[in-house]
Amino acid sequence: MPILSYLHQLFNVDTCHVYIHTLRWKDRSLQCPRCQSQDVDPWGNYHYRPGCKRYWCHGCKRTFNDLTNTLLHQSKRSLPHWILATFLLCLSCSSRRIARELGVHIRTSYRWCWWLRNAALSYEMHRQLEGTVEADDLYHTAGNKGQAPQGGKKTLGRRARGRRKKREPGRGHYDKDQPAIIAWGSRQGSVVIQATRDFTVKTVQKAADLAVQTGSRLYTDSASSYRAVTGYVHEYVNHTKKEYARGEVHENRAECLFSLLKPYLRVFRGISKCNLPGYVGFFQFLRNFRQQNAFEQAELILRAALDPSIAGRAKKGEFVTCFDHFDLLQTAIN
Ligand SMILES: [Zn+2]
Repeated sequence: MPILSYLHQLFNVDTCHVYIHTLRWKDRSLQCPRCQSQDVDPWGNYHYRPGCKRYWCHGCKRTFNDLTNTLLHQSKRSLPHWILATFLLCLSCSSRRIARELGVHIRTSYRWCWWLRNAALSYEMHRQLEGTVEADDLYHTAGNKGQAPQGGKKTLGRRARGRRKKREPGRGHYDKDQPAIIAWGSRQGSVVIQATRDFTVKTVQKAADLAVQTGSRLYTDSASSYRAVTGYVHEYVNHTKKEYARGEVHENRAECLFSLLKPYLRVFRGISKCNLPGYVGFFQFLRNFRQQNAFEQAELILRAALDPSIAGRAKKGEFVTCFDHFDLLQTAIN
């Protein structure tokens, strides 16, 4: 038997609490999360949670602590668990892996992963690219993995599709379990990745309007859907004529982005198509903050998770629905 099985047991709980305290009140003064009153006093500790300070609010005559109304509120697990989980999430571990490394139940880590991913998406809500932008697309096999909303097995209405089975040739579609993913990469560095139902002209036009500022320079391949897009200075290379770069005009950055996205998604062993936007959005967050190391990224996520206004929306999954371009683009078309 090893002497120590879990890394977070080496963390100092008090240091973690001081860190979380600093992170939460960095941009705002210490105030009551319920009535925003700044008339507060220290109010002892919790015996079951050493290190967590309690405060008394003179405004609403109630107590609160550093975790009230955040994603970490009333969690039975300690702060070292949460900090390590966020760090592992940024190292693109699956929720099962995180459960193993933390020693928590799989459902706990799955829920945490979704909340933290949602919190990370709050940084990516209104990202729009400008300047010179490259675009590329692919079809990703994503079916109906997971449980039914009421629990238990999902009724597929068809034979189970072996994950290894070769994909049908031709264009994919959401209804054929092959939604499209469009990647927009600015040459200045930032990226936007969207999961869409299909790859028709209307979808691509709507996706471009969301992702790229009008008037930008757009470099793509010769797919007909890109050629019909209006509002941009558009040039393309013709892959069928073995043309991959013509001076400045190429889309190698966008293709490179997919070479990173594919192994990232493979870690999760098949993703349900309804969850695909969340995973793709989180990858977009990781790419856009790629200059920072995994812990700095984790700190960004924790900071969002400690913001009550973001935490409330992240728990409900509001950010990921904004990222869900399946319906967004569909309603825009109808
Ligand atoms: Zn209060």
